[in-house]
Amino acid sequence: MEKKQKEYLFKVLVIGDLGVGKTSIIKRYVHQIFSQHYRATIGVDFALKVLHWEEDTIIRLQLWDIAGQERFGNMTRVYYREAVGAFIVFDVSRASTFEAVSKWKNDLDSKVRLQNGNPVPAILLANKCDQTKEGLSNTLPKMDQYCKENGFIAWFETSAKDNIHIEESARVLVENILNAE
Ligand code: GDP
Ligand code: MG
Repeated sequence: MEKKQKEYLFKVLVIGDLGVGKTSIIKRYVHQIFSQHYRATIGVDFALKVLHWEEDTIIRLQLWDIAGQERFGNMTRVYYREAVGAFIVFDVSRASTFEAVSKWKNDLDSKVRLQNGNPVPAILLANKCDQTKEGLSNTLPKMDQYCKENGFIAWFETSAKDNIHIEESARVLVENILNAE
């Protein structure tokens, strides 16, 4: 008997302040490339990553980038619609981008929910961990606590440049999305 294939399409948002590395993380994850020079495209862009998750499961991850709209600090409901997971990104070399994280999390939770009413699984990415950290010596050691209090399922130090923890964070997000189904 033929085994039935399971196929999923997951819309995942990548949000956070301008310049934290959202586009770089997506390009690294989907196209295995890194460049110093991504133009700030205007509007919304998305990339597709196909995961052969298990023998009988194919997952299409649709990663939604925001481009040029970060400075408003929020996005429209239309952008958030039907998202089932999110990465919120900050830049460890610029502490002010961490201060914006809770604002992004609130924006996310106020504009989209899972069908069962729960918040969508969200992972916090401390990007550019290849760089010198700035102003976060009190924050980073307490990050587990911060995540618990602010409803993040996990956090990872990432580098789009050196390809650190990007695959891993995506795997953890997908596991949580599948469990939340
Ligand atoms: P976005 O505005 O959040 O989409 O940020 P970009 O992806 O455009 O990245 C902004 C700048 O940071 C670019 O010059 C990238 O090359 C650089 N960048 C992104 N990720 C990293 C990283 O992990 N390490 C380093 N050193 N630079 C990064
Ligand atoms: Mg960008």
